[in-house]
Amino acid sequence: MIVVASSNGRIGINTATQILRQGGTAVDAVEAGIRLVEANPEDHTVGFNGYPNILGEVELDASIMNGRTLETGAVGALKGYLHAITLARQVMEQIPHVMLVGDGANRFAAEMGHPQQTDMLLPETREVWANRLRSDMSDFDIEQIAQRTDLAHWVQLATDPERAKGTVNFIVQDKEGNICTGVSTSGWAWKYPGRLGDTPIIGAGNYADNRYGAAACTGMGEMAIRACTAHSLVFYMKMGLSVAEASERAMVDLRDLHGRFISVMNLIAIDKDGNHAGYSSVDGRTYIYQTPDMPNCEELARTVVPVPPRWG
Ligand code: ASP
Repeated sequence: MIVVASSNGRIGINTATQILRQGGTAVDAVEAGIRLVEANPEDHTVGFNGYPNILGEVELDASIMNGRTLETGAVGALKGYLHAITLARQVMEQIPHVMLVGDGANRFAAEMGHPQQTDMLLPETREVWANRLRSDMSDFDIEQIAQRTDLAHWVQLATDPERAKGTVNFIVQDKEGNICTGVSTSGWAWKYPGRLGDTPIIGAGNYADNRYGAAACTGMGEMAIRACTAHSLVFYMKMGLSVAEASERAMVDLRDLHGRFISVMNLIAIDKDGNHAGYSSVDGRTYIYQTPDMPNCEELARTVVPVPPRWG
């Protein structure tokens, strides 16, 4: 039994581990751990008080995958509801679909009885958004932003790819050996409205298969979509590579992407025996893990496979 998470999962890892101690399932542990991160206003990359899109609206993406059945659920561009991971689980368990986005996701959240959260941003975070826009736009442009028909231009100027991103990743293996992965994010800060990253895309930001292992990503989601990173990593384990070798290979795939918009990527992974790995394209990134016999989580450095950044 083990819980492995991105380091911003620290606030939820004890709860997830306690669920395992009590004999709970990997799916329950993933959801419970991530809900605490989604509710944490200090985390500007997930859930409540996450950095908004270019219009100043918080749009959430999340997905969950059950490695026992390969069932999955995802939501994208969810607005006005906090617990995207719970909604993703409800997509997986309650309807014959795997992904709902935008108005459909909002509607399903209301149907499932999620409380509507009228303001997802604290005033100081709204100010960070406004200040970021002010460095490229006049006050008049900012006031008019919702009506503008040239957002594609502004989104190129106002993106901040090195700093304004993040996701929470949880991978859990329970006492039955079942693996579940969950990921949740407010996405890339100042993104174009409706932009989905890798988080709701199964095989890109999230994949779990009891037979081989699981992987989850944070970072420049567009890259993980282009390289199908989470599924590739699990596939490399299926082909006989260790979790470290498979992670390295998935990072090399990211490094080898051609074209523009290459930035930071990070991943965590476990194999079917619970061996884990954390990788990043930059120095100084960590991940955490906890087993039921550990009172607290341990933080480990991620192995670095450099991916030279390349923008416009
Ligand atoms: N992968 C997320 C996205 O692209 C953001 C991140 O993890 O940094 O939306």
